[in-house]
Amino acid sequence: CGIFAYINCNVPRERRHILEVLFNGLRRLEYRGYDSAGISIDSDNDDDHHVDVKEGGGQGLPPLVFREEGKIEKLVTSVYQEVDATDLNLEFLFMSHAGIAHTRWATHGPPSPRNGHPQSSGEGHEFLVVHNGIITNFMVLKETLVRHGFVFESDTDTEVIPKLAKFVYDSLTAETESSGEAVKFSQVVMEVMRQIEGAYALIFKSSHYPNELVACKCGSPLLLGVKECGEENKRGAFVSSELTLAKDGKPKEFFLASDASAMVEHTKKVMVIEDNEVVHVRNGSASVFKFEREKIQNSRGMPRPPS
Ligand code: GLU
Repeated sequence: CGIFAYINCNVPRERRHILEVLFNGLRRLEYRGYDSAGISIDSDNDDDHHVDVKEGGGQGLPPLVFREEGKIEKLVTSVYQEVDATDLNLEFLFMSHAGIAHTRWATHGPPSPRNGHPQSSGEGHEFLVVHNGIITNFMVLKETLVRHGFVFESDTDTEVIPKLAKFVYDSLTAETESSGEAVKFSQVVMEVMRQIEGAYALIFKSSHYPNELVACKCGSPLLLGVKECGEENKRGAFVSSELTLAKDGKPKEFFLASDASAMVEHTKKVMVIEDNEVVHVRNGSASVFKFEREKIQNSRGMPRPPS
């Protein structure tokens, strides 16, 4: 019932800070009602996320996923318990880091950690998704994905999304292998959008695209906020949905949320994302563009829907 994401680009942040930003985002979304909550952050992995190394490094260890039924404070407690139990370093400094968070109001599958979000593509969490809404054609997609060998772990409609993303990513990567063209994260998400039906606001995180986030929406609310490092809550609004924000390489922090209240403590530069728009945050900039169903369908290199 509420989605939230935080990405710091070239603004060194400790894990403790990243966790608190995510938890506070969820606390602000609490009023929307929920029965479970969850987050995903990166593990300490290799040095690619570390302060000495530039953004966009290679693939590290799978992201960490925490999900709890019940109150947000229950999630907070269990995350910090896990931190203690595993010696997860709260002072670990991420130069750039993409974290996602969710408060769930169950529509498909009873409240439980297993049915909580982020939902995952499977082992290794190659794709993780937080979702607000309902996917109406999830049964058909699930059946075809099962035929392709995917093993489902939850009763949610949402789980088809990260699994479909992995299917699309694998197909596109295989198709473009000979040309050497890199598959873009937003390309994967647009192909997923072409195949899902229903109402949704989605935020994707992927181990294939560290320090990047892609979000999209159709029928559920989504907002994008940006804060330049050192800038204090200046008032301002973005006007055009076509515009590319902040391609100046300056350190930035971006926020995505179901509601502006979840980001006002960080920035007042907030843009409302419209239906069928896609947001791609990477390398310190956010691009917002329109998803055109037909154009995507006819474009080169797209796999057919799984059948
Ligand atoms: N339909 C999804 C589920 O039941 C998302 C519900 C929500 O918007 O919180 O898991």
